[in-house]
Amino acid sequence: MTASRILVLNSGSSSLKYQLLALGGDGGGNGNAARLATGLVERIGEETSRLVHEPLTTGGGRRERDGRVADHDAALEAVADELAADGLGLDAPELAAIGHRVVHGGLRFTEPTLIDDAVLTEIERLVPVAPLHNPANITGIRTAQRLRPDLPQVAVFDTAFHATMPESAARYAIDVRTADEHRVRRYGFHGTSHAYVSRKAAELLGRDPSETNLIVLHLGNGASASAVRGGRCVDTSMGLTPLEGLVMGTRSGDVDPAVVFHLHRVAGMDADAVDELLNKRSGLVGLCGDNDMREIDRRIGEGDEAARLAFDIYIHRLRKYLGAYYAVLGRVDAVVFTAGVGENAAPVREAAVAGLEGLGLAVDKDLNAVRGHEPRLISPEGARVAVAVVPTDEELEIAEQTYTLVSAR
Ligand code: AMP
Repeated sequence: MTASRILVLNSGSSSLKYQLLALGGDGGGNGNAARLATGLVERIGEETSRLVHEPLTTGGGRRERDGRVADHDAALEAVADELAADGLGLDAPELAAIGHRVVHGGLRFTEPTLIDDAVLTEIERLVPVAPLHNPANITGIRTAQRLRPDLPQVAVFDTAFHATMPESAARYAIDVRTADEHRVRRYGFHGTSHAYVSRKAAELLGRDPSETNLIVLHLGNGASASAVRGGRCVDTSMGLTPLEGLVMGTRSGDVDPAVVFHLHRVAGMDADAVDELLNKRSGLVGLCGDNDMREIDRRIGEGDEAARLAFDIYIHRLRKYLGAYYAVLGRVDAVVFTAGVGENAAPVREAAVAGLEGLGLAVDKDLNAVRGHEPRLISPEGARVAVAVVPTDEELEIAEQTYTLVSAR
């Protein structure tokens, strides 16, 4: 059987990330997807746009193109040209579908969804709850539809995995009518990653996902924790938007909501100004000027106090969520680290569980120091609760969900 190709698009306001994968052929499917090409167009609309394209099977090296890319249409056309140059053109009959990462699916979308006009309208209706993300995702979908109107387009939602949260975890304790009228509730994000990592972690433990309880810590530039019982999310740290929860690269995570009106009253900051402060100038970057954990680690090594405090605040919040989700789950089989920081920053993993032997949690120093791309255990042999590092792969998860949906049609 020949493989089907799936193009995965992750469209941001000024960027377009893509990956082309082959699934379902001999040697494909069942997690054996082949990655054919990957790349990114950044600074779309500016003079300094750049396309970086990397073919992964032809042996050709990475190619870069600098120069203005006017809009997302032009960006996707440039991507199509690069793929065509590798013999992977988007007009090839092997291309079965395009899978789009869509950030907010609200209450309506809890599964990967074939996109039609009604679905697009509904994604647009969610713009007020995801003003930074959904408009860019919609642009990506429309662009892809113009390029290949005949092809199935599938939306895979970042919120979907969290739709199983009980009302006790999903609701804020605010007036119910106001909340319902304006759809104010906790949706959670990074769901594609939490879903993928949960499945892979159960595989690593040799357990059935339906009988496995996990705390998944997705620590990237954005960061979120989730409590997963038997393969289903029962709580997660991000809320109405990706701002709630852990300390992140540039986002504050949890603050007293009164900070917002306090800054309005005493500093005259309007909603947009506070939004920008909490989303872009807070978190690690707000605390010490750097949001890259490698740089923070290096500065700590030089005795930099601001970097040390930023790290301590980051870890303190992480440990609070770890403890909270331990209590939410009652029994925990594994704590799983993923994403840029979780997969690479051994000091973060060590500090996150330090002194928690009473909860059955510990990391083995040597195992924690190992680097690699494979899922691995870092807890000591025979530990009551496993601690694991499981590299995430959101593109593969989107491709697999897209493939499953279109092959069932
Ligand atoms: P992500 O959003 O998952 O791509 O993660 C990006 C973040 O991962 C960066 O901002 C860094 O803080 C962190 N990171 C990436 N590589 C390393 C590394 N080798 N050591 C420590 N942190 C890293």
